[in-house]
Amino acid sequence: MSFETLNCNECGALLQVPSVARYVTCNRCGAHLVVQRAGITTYTESARQPAPDSPDPTWREMADRLDYLEHEGELARVEEYLEHFPELAGNRALLLDLDQGAELVNFGACLGFMAVNLSVLGHYFVRLRQRGGSRMWANVICPAIGFAICFLIWLSISPLAMRVGALWTVAGLVYLGVQTGGFRRKLS
Ligand SMILES: [Zn+2]
Repeated sequence: MSFETLNCNECGALLQVPSVARYVTCNRCGAHLVVQRAGITTYTESARQPAPDSPDPTWREMADRLDYLEHEGELARVEEYLEHFPELAGNRALLLDLDQGAELVNFGACLGFMAVNLSVLGHYFVRLRQRGGSRMWANVICPAIGFAICFLIWLSISPLAMRVGALWTVAGLVYLGVQTGGFRRKLS
């Protein structure tokens, strides 16, 4: 079953609507909407009065419900499919949803930004000893503030993303260790 993305006529929310659906209920504002298909354009209209071909509002609800059940049926088929492929089903624990995936990206991004700020501190303040006057601002205070902000954001990442991110980081360190002969030579 294919879906199309439409805007709720009431609140503007994006709705994933099965391309065969004639009625849809907005999952943000709860508005009952009629899906209008005119030529190549599709849009929603508020269903304040029942559509002529469905005088009873309960029919609209049943139509929504049927769309929903059809969608659920697809999910059930995916589950069934996974059951037939145990090697895939075993990997389901590793599948992340979009939010978790985004958090995982944040894990790496925050860690990277923290490392950049620490590098500025280490290179200019510690190694090059640029510590006078305005250099304090650029080489210590700014990177310290940057580090603190990234660290606070990093702390808010969910435990699951933390675990996966930590595993990924360890895998990266092992890979780097192998590439550099146990951190003894530079990356070529
Ligand atoms: Zn809405």
